[in-house]
Amino acid sequence: MSAPQTPLDSTLLDRARGCAVGAAIGDALGMPLEARPPRPPHNLLHEMVDGRLPAGSFTDDTEMALALAESLLAHRPLDPADLARRFVAWADTGPDDIGVHTYRVLARLKRGESWDTAVEAVQRANPESAPNGSLMRCWPVALAYWSEPEALLRDSVLQSRVTHVHADCLAACVFANTLIAALLRGSSPAEGVSEALATVSLPDGLRAVVEGAAQLRREQLRNSGWVHHTLESALWGLLTTDSFEEALVQVVNLGGDADSAGAVVGALAGAAYGLEAIPTCWRAALRGAWPPRSGTFWTANDFATLADRLLGVEI
Ligand SMILES: [Mg+2]
Repeated sequence: MSAPQTPLDSTLLDRARGCAVGAAIGDALGMPLEARPPRPPHNLLHEMVDGRLPAGSFTDDTEMALALAESLLAHRPLDPADLARRFVAWADTGPDDIGVHTYRVLARLKRGESWDTAVEAVQRANPESAPNGSLMRCWPVALAYWSEPEALLRDSVLQSRVTHVHADCLAACVFANTLIAALLRGSSPAEGVSEALATVSLPDGLRAVVEGAAQLRREQLRNSGWVHHTLESALWGLLTTDSFEEALVQVVNLGGDADSAGAVVGALAGAAYGLEAIPTCWRAALRGAWPPRSGTFWTANDFATLADRLLGVEI
């Protein structure tokens, strides 16, 4: 029997639950604003409303995170072949949305290619392609390894490599999860970003994005599906506000890839402020079928329980 490396306390548990619930809430809050222009600053959306899905529904961002979380609960360290199988099984359910880059990789996997050759072939065909599909789902790794930096680095990279092998995608996932781990341990957002900048190796362009995010004005943010833009928006939201609610409202109202940036800032702000800081009306509205079309619906409580399981807490 090995003792846990670092004791869990109730504050850390609340932050970890906030990360999981917050990611799904950011996704659901951004869902109706996806592919829209930025909302005018005097008319920001604060409520869960209907979009292409009913109000409060989470999307592919959260579904892929759930596939990753279940893979991690079954295999630690992460088994990339198992994760690839779970992603293909998810795609086979006919999800409402799936990123173009991710679709190309999963189509090759479905034809029988191995996980490492499929992603390399897709990247070779589009060498500059660096979308946010692995960043938006990476938070379960931070919960599983919040006190184990080497394992966090290894599986943050590996979960990305199954679909997104560009150096910027790998580095963005490591950065986000290192930041989440710092927030879980009690660092403030600014302290957490400084700590992650000091320890994570980032390509120059991505380092400039991280260092400059807090100084940007709202109208300078593009919030496309490029991993640079998603990390930039999420850090801007985390660093220029002082509550979970305001961080999410500011980011999802940028429009564009609102649900993915919402998921990332939701994971970060949830880890910073904890579950109890998440508005109860948002928690009550959250819902989504998992597995897709199974008839089983996940609510905020299920995400909180998932966080406990990833942390290894007996429930
Ligand atoms: Mg989505």
